[in-house]
Amino acid sequence: MGLRVIVVGAGFAGLAAADRLVQLGHDVTVLESRDRVGGRVWSQQLVPGRADTVIERGAEFVLEGYEVMQGMARRFDLAVAPSTMSYYVRDPRGTQPPVTAEDVATYAQALSPAAQATARGTSLRAFLDAHPQLPAESEVLAARAAISCAVSEDLLSAQVLLDSTASVQPLPTARIAGGNQGIALALAAALGDRVRVQAPVVSVRARDDAVEVVIDGGVMHADRVVLAVPLPLLEALDVQPGLPARQRASMARLTRGHAAKLHVPLAQRPAASAVMDVPKRFWCWTATDGSGQVQPVVHCFSGSPGALSGLRVTDGPQVWLGALRALRSDLDLIDEHALLSTWDDDPWATFAYSGSGVASEPCDEELIRAPIGPVHIAGEHTAGDFAGLMEGALRSGVRVAEEVHASEA
Ligand SMILES: Cc1cc2nc3c(=O)[nH]c(=O)nc-3n(C[C@H](O)[C@H](O)[C@H](O)COP(=O)(O)OP(=O)(O)OC[C@H]3O[C@@H](n4cnc5c(N)ncnc54)[C@H](O)[C@@H]3O)c2cc1C
Repeated sequence: MGLRVIVVGAGFAGLAAADRLVQLGHDVTVLESRDRVGGRVWSQQLVPGRADTVIERGAEFVLEGYEVMQGMARRFDLAVAPSTMSYYVRDPRGTQPPVTAEDVATYAQALSPAAQATARGTSLRAFLDAHPQLPAESEVLAARAAISCAVSEDLLSAQVLLDSTASVQPLPTARIAGGNQGIALALAAALGDRVRVQAPVVSVRARDDAVEVVIDGGVMHADRVVLAVPLPLLEALDVQPGLPARQRASMARLTRGHAAKLHVPLAQRPAASAVMDVPKRFWCWTATDGSGQVQPVVHCFSGSPGALSGLRVTDGPQVWLGALRALRSDLDLIDEHALLSTWDDDPWATFAYSGSGVASEPCDEELIRAPIGPVHIAGEHTAGDFAGLMEGALRSGVRVAEEVHASEA
């Protein structure tokens, strides 16, 4: 007969959940606080009217193992465009002595057995300090992991050196041609008027096999609710009865990444490139889009609170622009359309993304996503190895839909 399900959040997780629930025969409503779908996936033209300047204000790279996202792209006829440069390999600058990406890859490989054998609870910082053979290469590895996980290396586990997202091997990377948000827009179009934007959920009351969802100006009733909101907002949401203490403790052990991006148009089309400022902890790249040509845009990403405060992102793009100009004197920047994107001050995100950290326990993955009666949890933070990623968000949506479906007695 089908359940009445309310999905809170129209990011990749909520939309994938709603899509699968509809396929399984349920009656779904998606409530989204923003005036757009996609959440932390937000694509736009940097120079209005210029299709060759589409940028990603949030998630950009389609990485290794993105099977669900690749499947969605095929289903909606969206091209997956190779970036030509590799997300994983960044030319390191600013170390003493200077080192190359190859030096760093060789050192990472040499360290990996020791990282594998290291006791759980050892931080990346402590691990690198205990292996002082090549300090410049170590500093690059620390910067690489801290930038990509968007937290400082003392909060990361040494095991991060074995994760594919912190890998320094030259794996291919891609983006959705025309913008990653195309996946969210296509899912929302398929869901039609089941998706309501500008509908922030204020609280959730669960009773036995029913839920009341309070939005501005009303109460909605359903059999199940799926909470697909960012981790800090989930923790702060008024959900009755509250999340169990053990579940909250597992959530608290996840890292909370802080990141920002800067996009600047260029006077010429450069070659594809990827360069990392090791001391300032940001990297920048030039990459191809769906046309096969390198875009006339330089994209920058900075991660970890220390890096963001060093670049003074809360004051605007000026300090970062100066650092970028010093790093990439080969590029002809057009400051006029420079666009800074921050997420800490976005009330519907408040951070960038989660990850497992030095304090994480093996039981956390199961506990974080455990349903509480009729309340089900999705979102990138529930995705285990794919936490913090678009693929994780999509996988969590499909997983939660199956869970809701199975709960129909
Ligand atoms: C700067 C940056 C760069 C990134 N780079 C990459 C990358 O290169 N590759 C990659 O794979 N991933 C990347 N990510 C991560 C990726 O964006 C996320 O993992 C993924 O998009 C999260 O999807 P989600 O559905 O879990 O959450 P979200 O996309 O945040 O969706 C949650 C939705 O819930 C809504 N919401 C919140 N509270 C309420 C409420 N009370 N009521 C109703 N709605 C509510 C929000 O508005 C939002 O739309 C990046 C993220 C950032 C910020």
